[in-house]
Amino acid sequence: MDDIDVFAQSAIVASAPLGPSRRQYANAAAVVATPLVPPALLRRLQEIEIHFGRTRRGQPWQARTLDLDILLWSEGIWAESHPHLSIPHPALRTRNFVLTPAAMIAPDWRDPVTGLTIRQLQTRFNRPKRLDRAV
Ligand code: ADP
Ligand code: MG
Repeated sequence: MDDIDVFAQSAIVASAPLGPSRRQYANAAAVVATPLVPPALLRRLQEIEIHFGRTRRGQPWQARTLDLDILLWSEGIWAESHPHLSIPHPALRTRNFVLTPAAMIAPDWRDPVTGLTIRQLQTRFNRPKRLDRAV
């Protein structure tokens, strides 16, 4: 692709399906360089999804062939409603299928909202929850 240069790519990490779909997902993260601003990059990613056969009919949680999201941006935060675009992607803090591949290639990249690195987010998210009545 002439407008998206891949600098690093993670291994593929399998995850159980969320919601009603029954098949596992294959997850991966990449660090890319691009001259495109975030909304233009989102449009490019959506074109690629369509090229791989994705349709946007039906339920948001239905099985999909490809889902390309923008997790972080070197310039920090982006928040826009038309098109809806929110960077960092909120799933970065709450989904291991996002955190695990991201930590493989960019463990020291900081989430500009919490100030924590991806490695720290991963540790925090997976820390056992405090038990109120533990002995
Ligand atoms: P999912 O939330 O599971 O990725 P979709 O791929 O259908 O579901 O995305 C729904 C919408 O989320 C997109 O149309 C896009 O406008 C919006 N969106 C908001 N923030 C982001 C982001 N950081 N990366 C990709 N899409 C985003
Ligand atoms: Mg998406």
